Amino acid sequence: MIGASVHGRDIVALHRPVESSRVRVVVIGGIHGNEPVSPPIVRSLVDVPMPADVEVWLLPEMNPDGIAAGTRANANGRDLNRNFGWGWLPYDGGPAPFSEPETTAAADLVLRAQPHVVVWVHQPLSYVSSIGSTPDALEEAWSRGSGIPVRRDVTQHGGGESWTNFTAGFPSMLIEANGWEATPQMVAAHRNGFAELIALFG
Ligand SMILES: [Zn+2]
Repeated sequence: MIGASVHGRDIVALHRPVESSRVRVVVIGGIHGNEPVSPPIVRSLVDVPMPADVEVWLLPEMNPDGIAAGTRANANGRDLNRNFGWGWLPYDGGPAPFSEPETTAAADLVLRAQPHVVVWVHQPLSYVSSIGSTPDALEEAWSRGSGIPVRRDVTQHGGGESWTNFTAGFPSMLIEANGWEATPQMVAAHRNGFAELIALFG
């Protein structure tokens, strides 16, 4: 448990602990509650084979209240991917950066993990993007594995993926899954993308 939502629902991260971590990876989905594709994609990564010294945190449902209600926003009506502290704007970012408990839970997880990459999963625009200074090799690996095209130079004001790189200074990726339904083929494709990403870290 890494936090609780506005309505008190647990925000749960699946943690693959290791004795001594060489590489640390965080994957976050369920940011918008009306995007049903990302929770199953993130959960499917739990048994991807990887080296013994790769530590992983999977957060399938960052916005459990929004998922329960089928809404993009959280229970306060805030778009969580406008509530992070990079490029925050008052008209759509909530009352202040990190005003929402779901945003702070995710940001705290990222800061605690000191990750080598954070992957943020949305839908349905069908692209993968390395944010800011994140090496192109990362988006190319996920693209190779998933068949989803690369899109360069993506930013989002108040977005978690943008805050992760531009403010927190960690490599960050945005995955926009292709479509609105988590078909087994789509989940498998993104699982392959994640496996290719992990392979980069040897
Ligand atoms: Zn989204």
